[in-house]
Amino acid sequence: MKKFGIIGPGAVGTAIAFALRENALDVTLLGRENSEVRFQDYNEQAIHTLPVASLKSSTETFDILFIAVKTTQLDQITPHLTNITHDKTVIILTQNGYGQLKQINHSHAYQAVVYISGQKIDQQVTHFRDWTLKLPINNDTLLLKSLTKDSILNIECIEDYYEQVWYKLLVNLGINTVTAITRQTAKVLKSDGIENLCRNLLIEGRRIASAEGIHFNEQLIDSIMNIYAGYPDDMGTSMYYDVINHKSLEIEYIQGYLLEQSKKHQLSTPLIENCYAILNTFQPEA
Ligand code: NDP
Repeated sequence: MKKFGIIGPGAVGTAIAFALRENALDVTLLGRENSEVRFQDYNEQAIHTLPVASLKSSTETFDILFIAVKTTQLDQITPHLTNITHDKTVIILTQNGYGQLKQINHSHAYQAVVYISGQKIDQQVTHFRDWTLKLPINNDTLLLKSLTKDSILNIECIEDYYEQVWYKLLVNLGINTVTAITRQTAKVLKSDGIENLCRNLLIEGRRIASAEGIHFNEQLIDSIMNIYAGYPDDMGTSMYYDVINHKSLEIEYIQGYLLEQSKKHQLSTPLIENCYAILNTFQPEA
């Protein structure tokens, strides 16, 4: 039986561990230390307790390894990867943003576009919605899909992977930026000028996507703005919560990645550049 490891007993990692354990797969959830995490689906009463094993003490090698720490935490876990992987381990990075895969020096590593929504408060994870990871299509990801086919985890191996990466980048760009900069929840879109700022960020983002060869149709901006309009007023984004809780922001691989691509193509994207500079000032001192 293939061995599954998951690094990061947080919102995404615990949900994946839960999904695979329910399917009686061989799963180890790895965290900072030996402990436990509780998992609850938003629509259900039951609370499940999952064991967490210490990553730094782990020497077991895994055939499939999910990495579900935040992008700001990736450099802390990469030194441990050689202990718990073999040459053919399939590594799936389940993070927002793009460009960070280069930190993982392994020939079978892929980044998923993550559609699993949840939140960890203290040692309890609440899963809100979705169980989908979108991956590029190849033999490794098809193997993962077949190994997990009977679980609630939905592995999609897709031809238009890069389009999906860029779509999620843009969805994160608009709302994460405006909620984090203003330190307000989604209701901020109703403040004068903020909806316009959000829309113009997306317009800049779409221009960068286009320079990268990803051509979205004319309706893209309206359709993303419509998604935001459906958010409850009191809904925060991960970047908003990170700002108000004085935690590191995952800007390097969202706004930072977009800016890097923009510069590469010698585009002028002043809103993304200025917002990135402001967000950078919110980073806690190392
Ligand atoms: P969480 O903060 O909930 O989970 C990260 C987990 O990793 C925490 O339990 C953290 O422990 C653990 N961790 C951090 N450093 C280490 C370490 N050195 N060794 C072992 N464990 C460690 O994050 P999320 O699950 O919310 O996010 C993961 C990624 O998924 C992010 O890139 C996020 O943007 C993305 N994402 C999240 C979504 C969501 O709804 N939550 C939706 C879509 C994408 P500790 O708490 O002790 O720091």
